[in-house]
Amino acid sequence: QDLLFEVENLKVHFATDDGLVRAVDGVTFGIPRAKTVCIVGESGSGKSITGRSLMNLLPHTARIVDGHVLYHPEPGRTIDIGKLDPRGKPIRALRGKDVSFISQEPMAALSPVHTIGQQMVPVISRHLKLGRREATERAAAMLARVGIPKPAERLGSYPFEFSGGMRQRVCIALALSCRPKLVIADEPTTALDVTTQANIIDLLVELQEESGLSILFITHDLGVVAEVASDVVVMYLGKVVERGSVEEIFHDPRHPYTRALLRSVPRLGAGRDTRLAAIRGMVPSPFDRPKGCDFHPRCDFAIAGTCDVTAPPDVALGGSRSVRCVLPEAIRPPVQRAETPPS
Ligand code: SF4
Ligand code: MG
Repeated sequence: QDLLFEVENLKVHFATDDGLVRAVDGVTFGIPRAKTVCIVGESGSGKSITGRSLMNLLPHTARIVDGHVLYHPEPGRTIDIGKLDPRGKPIRALRGKDVSFISQEPMAALSPVHTIGQQMVPVISRHLKLGRREATERAAAMLARVGIPKPAERLGSYPFEFSGGMRQRVCIALALSCRPKLVIADEPTTALDVTTQANIIDLLVELQEESGLSILFITHDLGVVAEVASDVVVMYLGKVVERGSVEEIFHDPRHPYTRALLRSVPRLGAGRDTRLAAIRGMVPSPFDRPKGCDFHPRCDFAIAGTCDVTAPPDVALGGSRSVRCVLPEAIRPPVQRAETPPS
């Protein structure tokens, strides 16, 4: 498979006053060229940190302690991201150019005291080596492409002059303006109303089809996953518990956590505003991990004397499929999906 990124056994630790947190604990997955990989998990699963690790954009208290992030700008060429100084020139040249980010809160990605043009034009000019006029034209063309009316005029507007949905469109324009190979979208629609969410998702899918870009989509929303993903990575407490194609994950889920997530979602394609319903129990504190399998206190299939003692291995099931459970083959009763609630 033609992979743009390979993440292998990635471990990221956080230093806190209460001790070390293993925020990302041996994560492995690949991002194929021109495809969308979704990382799905509840908050605290390490999905955002995993995304930020791809460009080593971590908070100063966090560090990649093991594993590899390999970037293949073209087939046959490899850049080992972990070997680059996180503040050095080579990685800064990749950020925004080869890989860009879209976050949940567009206000955080934009400077409030500069116009959209003041933020887009220098970036385009630097990365694409264009003169001011050409860069300005490209900025306006990108705003037009994401559906901002009167784009040339709006380059003179400040972020607060846009609605939330329009602001997220501006961020998408900014993120795509230098023709990146990968966009990392971290819960990009969570703060938006349902209709705007749907429009933004459609826009990202269209832009991907036009430009052949890869997307790493980080979300807790399985409705979004069903809509955009080609491959799915399910995370729990810093570990990948299941990995597979979107069809495998939705039609033949093997991990009890994946099954529990799916049980709470109306049928595939039934709606975009479906959220993960609560799974019994709580996500354990990273300071107080359960012994054995991280999921055993909440697992309907847990085997006493096994799951509460020994951490399960990551079992490869062929292709890019894997399941971290002692029973990947045994647990296969049909998923009981909740009926779509009457609206
Ligand atoms: Fe459940 Fe045991 Fe599998 Fe963990 S290893 S998910 S507790 S069955
Ligand atoms: Mg997050």
